[in-house]
Amino acid sequence: MTQVQNVPTLRLNDRREIPQLGFGVFQVPPAETEAAVTRALEVGYRHIDTAAAYRNEAGVARAIAAVGLDRSEVFITTKLFNDDHGREQAQRAFATSLERLETDYVDLYLIHWPVPSEDRYVETWQALEEFHREGRARSIGVSNFNLEHLERLGSETETVPAVNQVELHPYLAQRELRAYQRDHGIATEAWSPIGQGKGLLDDPVLTGLAQKYDRSPAQVVLRWHVQLGNIVFPKSMHAERMRENIDVFDFELAGDDMQEISALDRGAGGRMGPDPDRFG
Ligand code: NAD
Repeated sequence: MTQVQNVPTLRLNDRREIPQLGFGVFQVPPAETEAAVTRALEVGYRHIDTAAAYRNEAGVARAIAAVGLDRSEVFITTKLFNDDHGREQAQRAFATSLERLETDYVDLYLIHWPVPSEDRYVETWQALEEFHREGRARSIGVSNFNLEHLERLGSETETVPAVNQVELHPYLAQRELRAYQRDHGIATEAWSPIGQGKGLLDDPVLTGLAQKYDRSPAQVVLRWHVQLGNIVFPKSMHAERMRENIDVFDFELAGDDMQEISALDRGAGGRMGPDPDRFG
């Protein structure tokens, strides 16, 4: 049996709505994806974040069918990977993703990484603009773009990305990038929102606040994101944690507690994943 959780939506700059919290499937093995996404949909998630590079788009499609949900009830994001930059490659990659997802549109299509060494992300973005005009990508955005990459799109193309999906958690709070994106109408999506479940969740500030609010450290961090206005999609294979991670809309962190979490920021030193300037 499925239940829809009380997850608010945010309005993107193209006037479309996105559920603020979803389920991410990075590192979910292809053979286990159908089961994991089925579990998440049953728990009440209605926003799935996948990517061509995760090799599990087909499992996402099978789960939606297995649960018996209509395509329109689930917000699906997928991403174009690094070896598919350029107009023709992007067209092929997008068609393949749609095929694997067994759908004729995605809710959000992202450039996964800018790969500045190849310098083709502007051309790739123009291909995404076409997919958007055709209605096959309801919204388009980018991932792992820094200020310079966003500014370049701003000056050389017509469409402002609806989102930028970047590594973001209390140890890498992305203050400057978030401010820029707020000023330019670009929604911020936070990947590895709970710091991949390691180290960060043992931080005494977070365990202390977890006690104070009678919540788990993961819930405190996710609530911090929600109050900052970030879009999140924590990953878990376990129904219990899936329930815990989506159950963050019935309490509120006080202003000074928000600030205490934000003060954990370690800048670039807090990065857990690759540096977007060099990756790919
Ligand atoms: P995450 O911060 O969501 O952490 C996931 C890990 O935390 C799990 O594997 C589990 O070990 C642990 N965990 C989950 N719930 C927990 C809980 N309640 N308490 C304690 N531990 C818990 O990290 P992630 O998977 O790297 O990121 C989430 C999603 O972001 C991905 O699945 C993917 O969709 C997206 N992502 C995007 C990019 C990108 O380049 N665009 C990169 C990485 C991840």
